[in-house]
Amino acid sequence: MQLPKYKKKKRIKLKICQYCGKEFWGHPIAKYCELHRDVKQREKTKKSPEPGDSNNRTHNHDFIEVVEENWICELDGCGKSYVVKIFPKQFVYPRFCEEHRNEFRRRNWIRQKQLEDIRKIRAAAAKAAAPAVKATPAKATPTSKAAVKPVAKAAALEAKPAVKAKPVKKSAGSKT
Ligand SMILES: [Zn+2]
Ligand SMILES: [Zn+2]
Repeated sequence: MQLPKYKKKKRIKLKICQYCGKEFWGHPIAKYCELHRDVKQREKTKKSPEPGDSNNRTHNHDFIEVVEENWICELDGCGKSYVVKIFPKQFVYPRFCEEHRNEFRRRNWIRQKQLEDIRKIRAAAAKAAAPAVKATPAKATPTSKAAVKPVAKAAALEAKPAVKAKPVKKSAGSKT
């Protein structure tokens, strides 16, 4: 037995799975990564569509060659930019920066962000409680009827150097 001499050249290219957006090496005609080459895997995902959680987004374009673009991670508050390789005739691309292409990491990020927000709100509340800075123009809206306090005037009168700036002792317990 002889093997044919002309071994077909394997023209493997770096592709992006049209289902999950993962990069993979495959034939030029391959559409899906190893996992999603299996139709069952794709159907499974189809049955439980979580648009908000999807790793991908559709990007319409008509480039005829590979183009790199800078996109911004869609994860709330991340704002990191990442490079996306836009392939001709391929319209599904990752929505998140490299770091957030993993659902667990995104969940974690959101949790961290919520904690941070709570901390910020607490800090703001503590600041508001301290009488040091009284510049609160938002309150100066003349809501007729109710006795409109001359807030601005009062503030101006109190413009003396902050007297007895209460020592802010609120070291929000470092218990966890
Ligand atoms: Zn895939
Ligand atoms: Zn991100």
